[in-house]
Amino acid sequence: MRAPRVPPRLGGGRAALPALTALVLVAICLVFTFVMAAWHRDVGRVLGASGETVAAAVAGEVDRNIELLDFSLQGVAEQWQMPDVQGLAPRLRDLMLFDNAMRAPGFGTVMVLDGDGRVVGQSSGAVQIGTDFSDRDYFRVHAGTTSVGLYVSKPFRSRLSGHWIVALSRRIAGADGAFAGVAMGTLDLSYLGKLYAALRIGPDSAVTLFRTDGTVITREPFVQSDVRLWAGGGDSFNRMRSSHDGTFEGESPIDGRRRIISYHRVGDLPLIQAVEVAGEGDYAGWWRRAAAVAGLLTLLCLGVLGLSLALARELGRRSAAEAELSRLAGTDALTGLANRRRFEAVLADEWRHAAEADEPLALLMIDADTFKSYNDLFGHPAGDGVLRAIAGRLDAGARGRGGLACRCGGEEFVVLIPGCDDARALLVAEDLRAAVEALALPHPLGIGGVVTISLGVASGRPSAGGVASDLVAGADAALYGAKAEGRNRCRALPADGLRAA
Ligand code: GH3
Ligand code: MG
Ligand code: MG
Repeated sequence: MRAPRVPPRLGGGRAALPALTALVLVAICLVFTFVMAAWHRDVGRVLGASGETVAAAVAGEVDRNIELLDFSLQGVAEQWQMPDVQGLAPRLRDLMLFDNAMRAPGFGTVMVLDGDGRVVGQSSGAVQIGTDFSDRDYFRVHAGTTSVGLYVSKPFRSRLSGHWIVALSRRIAGADGAFAGVAMGTLDLSYLGKLYAALRIGPDSAVTLFRTDGTVITREPFVQSDVRLWAGGGDSFNRMRSSHDGTFEGESPIDGRRRIISYHRVGDLPLIQAVEVAGEGDYAGWWRRAAAVAGLLTLLCLGVLGLSLALARELGRRSAAEAELSRLAGTDALTGLANRRRFEAVLADEWRHAAEADEPLALLMIDADTFKSYNDLFGHPAGDGVLRAIAGRLDAGARGRGGLACRCGGEEFVVLIPGCDDARALLVAEDLRAAVEALALPHPLGIGGVVTISLGVASGRPSAGGVASDLVAGADAALYGAKAEGRNRCRALPADGLRAA
């Protein structure tokens, strides 16, 4: 038999509650992640903008320093070949050519090399006249090419001061335009280092001056091995080389760490000024706030999830209690069978179902015979035991046939069997009767000296018309007949009247 319909309970959405809560929390976490990512991008933009400003300012400063030395070198290169200058005594000539500008901080000795690379003039007495510098890259570059302009050498250690320096040089042309020597001055890289250090751009950040061929001229914080590093190549460096200035987040070409890199060309020179702002150091504020908000959010999520689970558990308890209450409300306390209330609900349900399916429905009305006298003889508690024994047999018989046994009150029972016609219903009734008789419960005033039952059977096809109570009335009338005929028997009431089993 199909389960009777149960009204929807509050506990229905219980299972969905934690899932729904988790979904809402995931949505909140996504919004949080989105907001924090946008904030992170903003921090990056601010860092990039300040890095760009610093790179442009430092490039301008480096350019001004180099320009200052270059003006002097151009003067020396143009005037060295003049006959008037050459006619002067060497000391006077050097005093005139190597002016005070060359003694500015950061500038080293300015020298003139002749066409063979030998020192022929200098701003100080630091180098011996005639010293051979023909092996230096700047000398070879100018000797081999006419259109170099200002040449910036690779960095090298000064033989005089031991400092890392870079040489700036210009070609000296003879009257016929032929190579006649080189005017060269040096720039102390520790001077640039001090300039970079004064920027204080934060921990794990770096300022680097590159040649466009990738050579690192200097870098702050200064690492000696950096200086000779050939950084040409790599995505970040190629990006810096490909345009005049810009900002991007990428890997440092020197140490591979991820930073916000701003770069700017130094004037018209083949030099790139780069400023790398460290992510970690400068994002520290962002990380602190993000961690605090994430911590609070996690606590909130755990709290909400905990509440949701507790609520789901409570709903589950209520739902189970409701189900139990509902079961008890439909159960007879003495026998454990369905009670009259449940019987009426199931009868209405099965009547409707049988009508829809065009099936028969059988109802057996059952009454214990001469039961009053049993109570009188053995007492009420013993009578209760007999009622339980009868209920057990009826329940087993009904279940085995897809039916339902109910106790309607007193010593009266009903068995409802769906899909069962008259003939089969009478057979079932006879089985039940025999089963109770077979219990052989002694009853001196009973039929045959044992406890027996009488059964009235009615079967109908609801699709043919009528109402459910017709079935009850029919079975009741049939039971009346069975009692009248002597008890311990089954009678059916077909459409055409009472019929013996
Ligand atoms: P009949 O064969 O005509 O049915 O006779 P009867 O004595 O069974 O009929 P009657 O209706 O006169 O008596 C029914 C008795 O059932 C009365 C009552 O003592 C007994 N009874 C009703 N409910 C209970 C119950 O819950 N427990 C017990 N022990 N007896 C009950
Ligand atoms: Mg009775
Ligand atoms: Mg009775």
